[in-house]
Amino acid sequence: MTDEELGLLVELHKEGMRQGPGGADETRLALRLSGLSEKKDLKIADIGCGTGSSTRVLAEDLDAFILAVDFLPEFLEKLDASAEKAGLSERIRTACHSMDDLPFVEESLDAIWSEGAIYNMGFENGVKGWRPLLKPGGILAVSEITWFTDQRPQDLDDYWQAAYPEIDTAAAKMAVLERNGYTLLGYFVLPEHCWLENYYRPLQNRHNSFLQAQGNSVAAQALIAADKQEIDLYERYKAYYGYGFYIAEKA
Ligand code: SAH
Repeated sequence: MTDEELGLLVELHKEGMRQGPGGADETRLALRLSGLSEKKDLKIADIGCGTGSSTRVLAEDLDAFILAVDFLPEFLEKLDASAEKAGLSERIRTACHSMDDLPFVEESLDAIWSEGAIYNMGFENGVKGWRPLLKPGGILAVSEITWFTDQRPQDLDDYWQAAYPEIDTAAAKMAVLERNGYTLLGYFVLPEHCWLENYYRPLQNRHNSFLQAQGNSVAAQALIAADKQEIDLYERYKAYYGYGFYIAEKA
């Protein structure tokens, strides 16, 4: 991706409440499955936190200090502002780092949370690379693009093999967790409204003003066209894929 393309992505997404599919109720469901709600004085990293949709839920619901990590400072600024407004600043600290080079001490985290972001370093790389940072018995909670069926239309398969060849079934993702030293505690599928109402519709509502602000540049139009293709594909083929939420414990 060029700097120009990254700059445009930031402009398009920084005003969003979230930068990927998800929802507060689903973050809370994952929390219930994790057992973290009963624990005290937790230290948690929210990796690829974006503007902080999940970070604020964790800070609100848990007795925890949240280290919110993203490699885009523009998103972290938004999170700082919203945390301040919600009276959560004391419980959230933002830090600009790449997810494949985290500065945390080994065995220092009670949990690693990451919604819609681990694909940036690849699921297996992520679960493997982050494991040493967790305390024994620490929790890993990640959402990841997942095939819902064994068979699927060819054009859908072609699209995802090009975009993210590590896309796989839940059974295969669970096997990745097991062979990398985790015990699965829970799994669920994000419901459709997490994609359509919570993510795609607000994104589509920003498309026109974004194009205007960018003077209808060729690069801005290309970004919107790619968004539209992704959204069309989801609407057509949502029976075949979506996000799985995986909650696991360091074995
Ligand atoms: N968790 C948020 C954002 C998901 S979008 C939500 O659910 O709304 C994925 C996020 O990962 C973006 O904020 C993006 O900036 C971040 N990201 C992508 N590559 C990254 C990397 N290498 N290191 C850290 N963050 C990264």
